[in-house]
Amino acid sequence: MAWRSSGASNQALIENLAANGLITQPRVKQAMLAVDRAHYAPRNPYQDSPQPLGHRATISAPHMHAAALESLLPYLHPGAKVLDIGSGSGYLTHVLAELVKPGGRVVGVEHIQALVEMGRVNVGKSAEGRGLLEMGVVGFVKGDGRVGVEEEEGGKGWDAIHVGAAAVKGGEGRLVGLLKAPGRLFIPVEEEDYAQHIYVIDKVADGSVTRKKDMGVQYVPLTDAPTE
Ligand code: SAH
Repeated sequence: MAWRSSGASNQALIENLAANGLITQPRVKQAMLAVDRAHYAPRNPYQDSPQPLGHRATISAPHMHAAALESLLPYLHPGAKVLDIGSGSGYLTHVLAELVKPGGRVVGVEHIQALVEMGRVNVGKSAEGRGLLEMGVVGFVKGDGRVGVEEEEGGKGWDAIHVGAAAVKGGEGRLVGLLKAPGRLFIPVEEEDYAQHIYVIDKVADGSVTRKKDMGVQYVPLTDAPTE
């Protein structure tokens, strides 16, 4: 799966992901077409594989970004408030912003200052991205993603939280506490056997929580910040 969606341009990559059934929802396709991955991946931007960013960070493969967007989409309406933990390159943060504009807000969280800045710089490479930064639809903050960040504007929590690095088992509980009801958390969790799986955790309208174990994955772990 990792290579067969690669293309010679952003459009070709996205069309191939759709043709291979990895993007099924038109809004996800539109949003991914609107963001040029070349602004985020230092090498091979249109290859369907992860790429190193430096600082031990990796921009996830396009099919993983697509899977996260497809899963979170019911919660990504204009006006929605979204947290993107381990925002790295800022690619997904930008695509999420495309889905919640106008009126929404996406906050990327990174524990390395250089990556907070990388996200901001990368989003600023396009006129559309600069507009989203100026309007406050997208922003980046330094913080520990294991703790997360409170949603302060609406005060009711985040409609959606995406986590781009693997939590230890049980580590997801704290982030569930930051979700709005209804709201959804998409998070890779590493279990005792070192295997990682995506968990899709919903806080439903009455505040109760449901968990679904999804695909097996390989993400870098959520860690302590390196001493800079
Ligand atoms: N979604 C990003 C993924 C980057 S890789 C992208 O596709 O570009 C995972 C990121 O998680 C790295 O940038 C790393 O710095 C960050 N990370 C790891 N532990 C963290 C922590 N405790 N708090 C915040 N960010 C963390």
